[in-house]
Formats: sequence, structure tokens, C-alpha cells
Amino acid sequence: MFDDRFPIACFIEACRDAVVCNADYLSELDRAIGDGDHGTNMARGMESVFGARDDLTSLPMNEALSTIGTLLVMNIGGASGPLYGTLLLTLGKVWTSDVDFHSALSQAIEAVSKRGKSKIEDKTLLDVLYPVLVAVSERRSMDEISEKAWQAAQMTIPLKAKRGRASYLGDRSVGHLDPGAVSCALLVRAICKCMAETENVPKVNYA
Ligand code: ADP
Ligand code: MG
Repeated sequence: MFDDRFPIACFIEACRDAVVCNADYLSELDRAIGDGDHGTNMARGMESVFGARDDLTSLPMNEALSTIGTLLVMNIGGASGPLYGTLLLTLGKVWTSDVDFHSALSQAIEAVSKRGKSKIEDKTLLDVLYPVLVAVSERRSMDEISEKAWQAAQMTIPLKAKRGRASYLGDRSVGHLDPGAVSCALLVRAICKCMAETENVPKVNYA
């Protein structure tokens, strides 16, 4: 059964646009503290999902999420592919038609943390995911969640990287945005925009 609380076609297109339009910027951020490929990695992953959108939108939500997870692992590559993949694969595994979204997201973020052996303030995409989880638990508006994700990404600037390539730089990683945190904030912002647009559509009662 397709879960019509979540506009997956909008998610796919908005996430792809957000990443593709900012791919050069993400790679530039990764050039400062990594190897400069984060934008191309993410764009490749998002294009692969976009290419499969017709099949994805006809699948039950849990299967669509798992399939997106597999596509992300296979196509993003680098360190971030398996991490974004784990997020989606776990969401797919725990998704049910009456899912408590906060609990599903919480389990998926824990799986990413375990997979990356990383935690909050390690200067990674988790520095965006955890504050977003808190905002979801506080039932914040989509605009507020979006803003929180953006602020959280900015807050990676003073952090010293503890995981991934940036950690090889030690203190020299301080003073830069984490590229994965920025891609994550862009994705959250795209998803929130889709959710806000859906919420604004008046619910029609066909009964
Ligand atoms: P690579 O570092 O292999 O080139 P990318 O450039 O695509 O991969 O992704 C880099 C991003 O991945 C980092 O900015 C960081 O947010 C995230 N990342 C890297 N390693 C980890 C980890 N162990 N745990 C969580 N996130 C990580
Ligand atoms: Mg890189």
C-alpha cells in the first residue's frame, strides 16, 4: 500500500534538484577537508534514484525506501554512500503503515551512527540528523525543521573532524563546513518543503 502521508515523488525530484544544483558547492566544501568528490558522489546517487522514480512511486513505502537505500549505496560510493544507504535501508526495514515517524527515524539514525562508528560532534552528517530528530520529537513545523537542519550544518564549522577523511587533517579541519552535514541539510530542506506543500493541500473526504 502506498503511504500517501509522504509525497515520495516530490521527495525524489526535490532531493535530486537540491543536490544537483549544489553539487559544485558540495565538492568545493569537500576539497577543503576531503578529496573534493562529495558533490559528484551525491549527484550520481540522486540521479540514480530519479531515474528509477516511476518504479519507486508504484512500490509500497517500505520497499521504496529500501530500494532507494540500495541505489544510494551502489551509486553514491565514498564514505557517504553506505551511510545514506543505511539510513534509507533501516527506514525501509522498520516502516509500517501506522509507523511512528520519530521512532523510525531514531532507529535509522542509530544505524548510521553504528555503521560509521560516529557520534554527535564528530563533524559528520550526524550533526544534522540528531538535531532534526529532536525537532521532529518536538513536533516543530516543516519550516522550523528545515531551519534547524541548516543551523546545525553551520555549527560543524568550529568542530574538529573525528571520522572520515577530514579526520586525517586533525586541527586543520576546524573552521570549515562539513560537506556531508551540508548535503544532509539540503536534503532535509527539500523534504520539508514537499511535506509543507502536502500539508497545505486541503484533505478531501470521499466517504
Ligand atoms: P569520501 O570521504 O569517501 O570521499 P564523501 O566525500 O562522499 O566520501 O563524503 C564525505 C562525508 O561523509 C563527510 O563530510 C561526512 O559528513 C561523512 N562521513 C564520512 N565518514 C563518516 C563516518 N564515519 N560517520 C558519519 N559520517 C561520515
Ligand atoms: Mg570526498
